[in-house]
Amino acid sequence: MTSKKVDVLVVGAGVMSATLGQLLQLLDPSLNIMMVERLSRVAGESSHALNNAGTGHAGYCELNYTLERADGQVDISRALAINTAYEISLQFWSYLVENGMLPSPEKFINPICHQSFVWGEQNVAFLRKRYDALHTHHLFEEMEYSEDHAVLQKWMPLVMAHRDPLQKVAATQVKHGTDVDFGILTRKLIKAMTQSPTFDLKLSHTVTRMKQYPDGRWHVRIRDNHTKQSKTVDAGFVFLGAGGGALPLLQKSDIPESMGYGGFPVSGQWLICKNPDVVKQHASKVYGRAPTGAPPMSVPHLDTRMIDGQPALLFGPFASITTKFLKEGSVLDLFSSLKSNNLKPMLSVARDNLDLTRYLITEAFRSHKERVASLQAFYVDAREEDWELASAGQRVQIIKGCDVKGGKLEFGTEIVAAKDGTLAALLGASPGASVSVRAMLDVIERCFKSRMKSADWQRKLKEMIPSYGESLDENQALLGFVREKTLRTLGLLKQE
Ligand SMILES: Cc1cc2nc3c(=O)[nH]c(=O)nc-3n(C[C@H](O)[C@H](O)[C@H](O)COP(=O)(O)OP(=O)(O)OC[C@H]3O[C@@H](n4cnc5c(N)ncnc54)[C@H](O)[C@@H]3O)c2cc1C
Repeated sequence: MTSKKVDVLVVGAGVMSATLGQLLQLLDPSLNIMMVERLSRVAGESSHALNNAGTGHAGYCELNYTLERADGQVDISRALAINTAYEISLQFWSYLVENGMLPSPEKFINPICHQSFVWGEQNVAFLRKRYDALHTHHLFEEMEYSEDHAVLQKWMPLVMAHRDPLQKVAATQVKHGTDVDFGILTRKLIKAMTQSPTFDLKLSHTVTRMKQYPDGRWHVRIRDNHTKQSKTVDAGFVFLGAGGGALPLLQKSDIPESMGYGGFPVSGQWLICKNPDVVKQHASKVYGRAPTGAPPMSVPHLDTRMIDGQPALLFGPFASITTKFLKEGSVLDLFSSLKSNNLKPMLSVARDNLDLTRYLITEAFRSHKERVASLQAFYVDAREEDWELASAGQRVQIIKGCDVKGGKLEFGTEIVAAKDGTLAALLGASPGASVSVRAMLDVIERCFKSRMKSADWQRKLKEMIPSYGESLDENQALLGFVREKTLRTLGLLKQE
């Protein structure tokens, strides 16, 4: 029996669904939006502060966004794309702060210097080339570079303390980098939406099935986790923002666009510092270079975080092997996702990525002492007793078919949308929450095509995101205007 008819059904109460819901509610307050979440709380999976690194990814410090090409040049195109995407998030959050829909910014976003740090001749040469390629672009013009131990001692005292003075080292920094508590951000976005009578939040409810009817609408089966009763919601548009749970739901939708997709789950762990005296000595995010053979999401970094308003120091993530798609998922998730249409890509990825699998298994069995030894490359004086292991979130990397090898593993994010625009899903988790606004605008552009072109929605979008429809990569004056405004509104101008 159909119990309710809605315009929009968003599955999952993470940062993606929260952002999409908020954007749609602002564009058309009359839309009936239902959000369904299997857990009893919002932001309980990847969007929870401890389940991600909280880095406002802008390409300032992440060395895996600027790869060295075969000709020795550093390719900065991905860093430019991520930086401009993050500027869109900053503009939207600024708009919400200015209009009282998000709280005072320091509750969810804080200025934390973004630094890259490397050692060894080859890595130093790479960082210098990366700096040369980036800082001449207006998006990165505030980036600083140094190989001088005395300068680096000032930039990152904990990292430089008792370091061999003869070691060849180099670092870059951008002072207006950010740390974001995506858990708080998500909770506040959803709280703001609940003020509207057209928004309905259903916690402890799991989406179990869905079917499209000839009129194009989706009948979505939702189970109440307490009573075990199910009901059907009739939705005009469905967004599968279920994080690791998006792939199984996309498969259930049976849309032709879902065919061939598979997932490769990777779990993560942090070392968290228990010693407040050590926490106090560090005030930046320091990203290094991933060890050879390591997947891009295991780039090590030593991070100052603000979690629920309290400073913390984390090192990691240590990637590990898992068969679960969600932290609170089932060990059968990976096996249940095997379908006849994705078997070939899944098997070929398994065959071609034995090194990655071996790496993840080895990582899973590392001792505390070995993990602290990795930390000591960043912080020489690290003591085992000051750090404890905690689990981070899960990521389901995308597997898809390809002509050459039969299947390929991807580390980015992808939106899969039905041709008729009635359903969309977000797969993958990188660069993740930081680019949630750009990703959700993509969903709206693909699934609400004609309304998106209307003068009313265009005007509202420009009001919320002043650079909407223009290129910050190409328009230096516009970047200057929006960056000055967002840094000021979000309190991100770091005091010297
Ligand atoms: C170790 C790690 C570090 C990361 N670091 C960063 C970082 O520094 N910066 C950054 O920007 N991003 C980072 N990310 C990525 C970021 O955390 C994710 O991209 C983002 O949180 C994903 O949000 P989401 O809303 O898609 O998923 P989630 O937050 O996981 O939300 C999905 C929700 O859907 C619910 N759900 C699932 N299935 C169902 C169902 N059938 N019915 C109802 N509900 C369902 C889940 O319970 C969950 O609450 C990191 C991720 C990991 C794992």
